[in-house]
Amino acid sequence: MSKTVSQEDKEIILSSIRTIPNFPKEGIQFKDITTLLNNPEAFGRLMNHLEDRYKDYNLDFIAGIESRGFIFGSALADRLGIGFVPVRKKGKLPYTTVAEKYSLEYGFDEVEIHIDAFRYKKEAKVLLIDDLIATGGTASAAATLIEKVGAKCVECCFILELGFLNGKEKIKSPVYSVIEL
Ligand code: AMP
Repeated sequence: MSKTVSQEDKEIILSSIRTIPNFPKEGIQFKDITTLLNNPEAFGRLMNHLEDRYKDYNLDFIAGIESRGFIFGSALADRLGIGFVPVRKKGKLPYTTVAEKYSLEYGFDEVEIHIDAFRYKKEAKVLLIDDLIATGGTASAAATLIEKVGAKCVECCFILELGFLNGKEKIKSPVYSVIEL
């Protein structure tokens, strides 16, 4: 049985995250995790929980979504003694990439991964991580990329989930959110 966060940790983590109204535009309640990162107790409890949950998953890699997924993903990869892979916005990765488009409110965006990101390990077991899932478009495209380069997205993990947007319905892999709002 996979471990979920304790009530005490949940309260400490949640109270360390601040909400900025109307950023970056009118009507958005932006969840600012910089106040979690600069709070060693909250950040430490979060990382202890993630390490505890994922230590027995036999993961091969963690993939993090630009840019806040890099912070949690690389810290967790180091704790688990496995590699970290960045999923980036179009045009940022220097080597040969595979790309996936996803739709936004207006138009579309695109994410990319290096073709050799998982070192061609067949069916490499990958955990995808980001700070927050809203509509699920970004994470669903990132999970597709993982599969496109021959690896397996065994779970998608988010620190926060905006549950009312039903983003996880877009994602084929299992989804774990530390805190659902
Ligand atoms: P989505 O593709 O709609 O699930 O959006 C997820 C991406 O947008 C993540 O990388 C989040 O960091 C960012 N994001 C979306 N909504 C918010 C929000 N209210 N506060 C902070 N980040 C957000």
